[in-house]
Order: sequence, then C-alpha cells, then structure tokens
Amino acid sequence: MTTAEHAANTPATVPFKAEVKQLLNILSAALYTDREIFLRELISNSSDALRRVQFALLTDNTLSEPEAELEIRLSSDDSAHTITLSDSGIGMTQDEMVTTLGTIAQSGARAALEQLEKAQRSDIIGQFGVGFYSVFAVADKVTVVSRSAQPDAQAAQWESTGDDAFTVASAEREHRGTTVTLHLKDDAHEFAQTWRLKQIIKKHSDFVAFPIMVGDEQANQKMALWRRAPRDVTDEQYNDFYRQLTFDFQPPLKRLHISTDVPLDLHAVLFIPATRERGLMERRTEGKIKLYSRNILIQEDAPDLLPKHFRFIEGVVDSEDVPLNVSRETIQRGPQQKIAKLLNGRLVRELNDMAEEEPDSYATFFREFGPFLKEGIALDPQTKDDLVKLLRFNSTADETAVVSLAQYKERLIEGQNEIYYVLGNDLPSARRSPHLDPFYERKIEVLLFHDVMDSFMLNNLHDFDGLKLRNADDPDITLPGSDTTEDATPLAADEFERLAVRFKDVLGERITEVRQSKVLKGSPARLVSPADAPNRNMERVQRLMDRDYSVPAKIIELNASHPLLHSLASMLVAHPDDALLPVIIEQIYANALVLEGLHPNPADMVPHIQQLMEAAVKRQG
Ligand code: ADP
Repeated sequence: MTTAEHAANTPATVPFKAEVKQLLNILSAALYTDREIFLRELISNSSDALRRVQFALLTDNTLSEPEAELEIRLSSDDSAHTITLSDSGIGMTQDEMVTTLGTIAQSGARAALEQLEKAQRSDIIGQFGVGFYSVFAVADKVTVVSRSAQPDAQAAQWESTGDDAFTVASAEREHRGTTVTLHLKDDAHEFAQTWRLKQIIKKHSDFVAFPIMVGDEQANQKMALWRRAPRDVTDEQYNDFYRQLTFDFQPPLKRLHISTDVPLDLHAVLFIPATRERGLMERRTEGKIKLYSRNILIQEDAPDLLPKHFRFIEGVVDSEDVPLNVSRETIQRGPQQKIAKLLNGRLVRELNDMAEEEPDSYATFFREFGPFLKEGIALDPQTKDDLVKLLRFNSTADETAVVSLAQYKERLIEGQNEIYYVLGNDLPSARRSPHLDPFYERKIEVLLFHDVMDSFMLNNLHDFDGLKLRNADDPDITLPGSDTTEDATPLAADEFERLAVRFKDVLGERITEVRQSKVLKGSPARLVSPADAPNRNMERVQRLMDRDYSVPAKIIELNASHPLLHSLASMLVAHPDDALLPVIIEQIYANALVLEGLHPNPADMVPHIQQLMEAAVKRQG
C-alpha cells in the first residue's frame, strides 16, 4: 500500500453541523414511544434509492449491475444486538455520504424541528418524516457502507456514534447499493427480534413498492393495493394505506378506488382527508398525488392530474399508458390529460353520490372543502358547471340544513325568477341582515353567503339554470308577492325630512344620501350601494386584505315606520340639542355596518354603547 492510498483509507472525522446536533438531542431524548419509526425512515431511504436506480436504468446503460434484483433485505442478530438493512439501490459515493448524511437534507426533518419548537412537544415526532437521523433514537453506533451505481465507483463507509461527529473512509463492497448497520442501545434490544421488525414493517411500511425481505420471507404486501380488485381490499387496509401514505392519523372521510383497462389502463386510489387542517402534519400546499407507471414511481407530487381546486385530495395513480420517460414539461400532454379528465369525472360523480346518499358526510365534506370548490368556480371555467351542482349554502329557509341551488329553484315562490343572496361576515350576522326584511315578509328564501370565498365565487357565477343570482341589498329589486304584515304609520314627510338632515349632519361624508326605505320592516336602517358603486361583492374581501381599508360611502335607508325612528324624531323636536342624538345616529350607522360585515373595527362602538347604557340607567333611576 502506498502512502497516498494509506492516507485515503484513514477515516476522516467530520463534525456535525449545529442543526444536526440539535436534531440528535431531540431524537435521543424524546422519541421513546415513537422510536420504532427509525425503520420506516431507513426503508423509505432504501426504497427511494431503489426507485432512483430503477429510473436511471431506463436511460443509462453504463450503470452497474442492471439485472440486480431490486429489493431491501433486513436481518438482525439478537445476541450481538445489531440490525442490518441492505438495498440494491443507487448507492452513494464517499462525497455523497458527506453531503447527504452529514446534513439535514430532509425538508421533513427541518419542518419537524420547527414545529416541535413551536408546539413545545416532542411526542409527535413520529408524524413527521424525520429521516436518517432517527436511527440514533435506537442505536449508539451506526455504520453505512455504500457503493454507488456509477461505473467504477469506489465503496465507502460512514460511521457515527451520534454525538459530535462522523467519520468517512473507503471500504469494500462488491455490489451496488447501501448497507446500514445499527448497534442497538441497551434499552432498544427488542428491535433485534425478527417478529418485532416484521410488526413494524406491517405497521409503517406495508405498501412500499419493493420487496422487504426478512430472511426468506417478504414482510410487506406483495401486490400494490391500488392494483388489487377493490372488493379484495378491506376498510382496514385502505385506512392503513392512507395512514402510511399521508402520516394522517385520522381515517379519511372518503376513498375512491378506480380500476379500469379501457379506454385507459388506470388504477387509482384517492382519499379525501377528514379535515382541511391537518395541524402539525400539513406540509404540502399542492399536488399530493403520486404517479406510477408499471410499478415505477414517476412523480412524487404529480401536478395537473387533478384540477387545482382538488388539491386537498391525496392518493396514488398508476397507469401503464404513462410513458416512463415523462419530464415535467411533457406531463401536461398525452395520456396524463386523459387520466386527469377521467379522475375529475369520477370524483365529481362520487361527490354527487355522496351528497345524495350520505348527506351528513357530505355536509362535513362541504364544511371542510367547500371553499376549494368555490375557488374552482371562480378560477376554472372548465369544471365550473360540475362544481356548481356540488355547492351547498345556508339559507333563510332553515336554521341548520343547507340547500343546493337546484333545491332553491324548486322552492321559488309564484312569480319569482331570480335567486337571492345576502352577504355577511358570519352566519348570525347574515341571518340578521336588514336586507332580508322584505324577503321574510314574502316568505322568499334567501341564500346566506358568509364565507369569504363566496365573494370570489360570485365573480364568475352569475346565474344558475336560467335564474340570475341577485344580491338582496339591491335597492331596485321588485319582489313578487306581497307583505304579510300591515305597515305601521310612517313619519310625516316634514318629520322625516328633519331626521334625514340630522343624519346627514352627523354622518357627513360617510354617506352619500339619506332616504326613506320602501322595504324595511323590523330593521330601523340599512346601507345600500349607490348605483355606480364598483363590485360591492368584493368589499368584504378587500376589508380583510387591506388594513387601511375604508368603507366606501353608502346610501343609508331609514325605516320611517320603525318605533326607534319615531322616538328619535320626537326627541329632535323636543330636545334638538340632546347630546345623545348624535350618539344614537352613530350607533344606528355602526349597527348597519356590522351587519354588512363591513365595520372596520367593532371595538370602536364600545364608548357609544357605554354612553347609551348610562343614559338608559339614569332614566330608570
Ligand atoms: P431524505 O431521505 O428525506 O432526503 P434522510 O436524512 O433520510 O433525508 O437522507 C438523506 C440523504 O441520504 C438522502 O436524500 C439520500 O441522498 C441519502 N441516503 C440515505 N439513505 C440512502 C440509501 N439507502 N441509499 C442511497 N442514498 C441514501
């Protein structure tokens, strides 16, 4: 051996970066109950390495051992307390070991660190992919020997006791791939038992696409779940699959298993999660569909297989019709487009069926994911017609039940040929909207739009099945039917005029006009937009997005028959200088703003309310 060769073989010691040390501390201290996930993480790395070599072999014929079996082998020695996991994957060179095993490559691990710090918890680490370093939860020494699939690659060894540093050196290994050997900690000897390893594989890695061999036995499912006939798969298996796919510990709300040969070879399992917020586990914002072709994972997060508004759906799509050499650029063309069309059609149908057959589940679904469908209506003209049928809204017809637009249409009253809606910040204020007065009178149903997305949706939803959608605050509406209650006596014209002048005095530029309402019944006042007001449906959205948003000047309509305004008119004559007068007028305006969902800062009302209470109490006393 020459001096140079000897030097190359002396292990080099490399200190860990600070963030690795931090992760190691958390892992070794806190992972006790969850620590079995180290195996899931190692298997996932091996499976990734196998997938990468499989993919590379499609185009690169210089790689070593193209015929090698693609598999993971696991063995253990219960008396030496070691576990050995070996794969025939893409392998690593010494340099790659230093860069990939020496740092936290994993976005999952980084996210875990951040979240654990934020939540001040460490018992939830199993819900993240923490990556390779999780081995130090069970091992006090880890040795990795690897040989890259590159022709002429030299094998190398990485070793660490998981405290401050690791060493790398050249090594011997005949075949392509990687072997990880764990020397188990004293309190982790259980993991050297074969039954325990098999149990963990079943629990966390059952659906890995490559065989995981423990001795001569394959410990994971032999056939991909999505390629099996749906009738052969149990609920429990679907739910296990979902959990292993998503790390979501709540069972999914709904699953859809598609298995067809014509006109397309397609096997897909799609899941609707139980909730939109998956709390700490929510890492991705779009694309959660894995795309396989011929059992090879082509894309981890396939874009464009589902319309963007279905991005909350997770699952697997497998089709032999997808070419293996797809690139991000070509993905939008060819079979993928057909697949996307088919998936979208099936999903929409499934949701329609669910709405029909399982209204409770559908209500949950819509509560969680309705905003996505509304976004789809606003942005995706191609599927708008499908999505409109899936919409559900609260309405004045029922306290709790929601209605579809089709149901609304069935309940039109004689002479009604429009769909009415009212906007509000939340359900209770929408229900109380003064604009509803004439509708309640005539028993005309009004839809209550209290979700911000409703405003966006309205930009692109102007009619349904021949009926126009119309905002109930529109002062020009002529309603069919007639009042059911008798009008109280309105103020005389001069009394009203005096009141209107005073309102204008107090409210100034904030209103463009004071006028007598033709429609109000139970409410003293309402705000309506001047005829030339631009897009009033978006006002609430702008208020949410812009801190300095100022409410555009509106028309205030007063109910000349309302007892409050009668009293106010008398007060104006008897005590024109009463300090309470402007306070009451301000409060009438503020109430109307609140019910519109447009009050910039409701807390500003408190001093006025206080003043009114003091006056009321004094009068009693
Ligand atoms: P992640 O797998 O999410 O990237 P890890 O910390 O688990 O994060 O692994 C870091 C990197 O080490 C991997 O990205 C990969 O490049 C490399 N690696 C780990 N295990 C293997 C393996 N069995 N074969 C090849 N490369 C591996």
